[in-house]
Amino acid sequence: MGGSYYDVIIIGGGPAGLTAGLYTARARLSTLLIERGIFGGQIANVSWIENYPGFPEGISGYELAQRMYQQGEKFGIETVTTEATGIELEGETKIVKTGEGNYRARAVIIAGGAHLRQLGVPGEERLTGKGVSYCATCDGPFFRDRVVAVVGGGDSAIEEGIYLTRFASKINLIHRRDQLRASKLLQERCFSNPKMEFYWDAVVEDIGGDERAENIHLRNVKTGEITTLEVDGVFIYVGLKPNTDYLKGLLTLDEGKQIIVNDQMETESPGIFAAGDIHHNSPRQIITAAGDGATAALSATRFLEGI
Ligand code: NAP
Repeated sequence: MGGSYYDVIIIGGGPAGLTAGLYTARARLSTLLIERGIFGGQIANVSWIENYPGFPEGISGYELAQRMYQQGEKFGIETVTTEATGIELEGETKIVKTGEGNYRARAVIIAGGAHLRQLGVPGEERLTGKGVSYCATCDGPFFRDRVVAVVGGGDSAIEEGIYLTRFASKINLIHRRDQLRASKLLQERCFSNPKMEFYWDAVVEDIGGDERAENIHLRNVKTGEITTLEVDGVFIYVGLKPNTDYLKGLLTLDEGKQIIVNDQMETESPGIFAAGDIHHNSPRQIITAAGDGATAALSATRFLEGI
């Protein structure tokens, strides 16, 4: 596959990349979509989505991802499962380096999204998969009638915390401030849920346990007081880190390592576009990622027509 040449290569198969592919394929541009994991990206692990228009009852992230993937495939997107590790320029050709070899295209849309940030505390890595989890949808059912902690105060922590109340007997929500960042609707829901208990101004010092997570030590950031909580599981949702490490030196990144683009999703490098959570100031919503993907695809189409 080393020498394949496409009109457009899309890096990342989340809502931004899948939408971009839908548009480029329908524009009859030969399109390769590179995804290292499962199609859908972060949304594949989101329990339930209520703010993507067209699904008034809501839809599971996995199902939405499947539908987006099927729609792109129907119009002829080619896909490969591998990780993009670099982009090089050779005249007007962009060479995307991957574990499966190099792919070439005239335009590239970078839609690689972001991954969940780790807390970085002792015990976290050692006990991941042994009670420590970043995916309530995948691991929630293992915690039926158990006590779990959820760390974070954003939409993800609250939404997935509420989802976990289907299984767990109690959710200890641990947040480093005394106010949640999550949307007001989610706040109303979690405050009225009897299974949720809140630990404010609290940070996790470490996660303890031999074979499995058994407890966490919390430090109150205002008083310094240390509390021990006995838990069977710890779900961590403390924000996102953009997947841009391999782009250093090629594109300008902001202080949060996101890619700078203009409102047409063009980067500073002609023929390279960025869409979704990966770009500077992204609102990080599924609908905006999909919108970015469409914008980037239309810009790429115009760029290719101009060559
Ligand atoms: P987020 O909005 O960045 O929130 C991260 C949370 O973790 C914040 O409450 C933050 O505290 C806390 N945090 C960060 N670093 C921490 C640390 N080291 N220790 C303890 N706590 C820490 O991330 P997210 O919730 O994953 O959401 C990401 C994006 O996706 C957002 O734009 C969100 O709106 C979107 N999203 C939307 C939905 C929805 O619309 N239904 C669902 C999920 C996600 P501070 O508040 O003090 O900064």
